[in-house]
Amino acid sequence: MNIESCSKRRFKSENEARKERGWAESEYNQKFNIYRCGDCNDWHLASIK
Ligand SMILES: [Zn+2]
Repeated sequence: MNIESCSKRRFKSENEARKERGWAESEYNQKFNIYRCGDCNDWHLASIK
């Protein structure tokens, strides 16, 4: 289990993560991936390099 990756933002649904991504992409001027976490079973955003 990777606790560290789960200390960042967690979303209960893909839809919630999508909404947050829209905000984050304009805020940080950067693209983000949405993925389902196998550890906490929630959704996270990951920046795309
Ligand atoms: Zn997680």
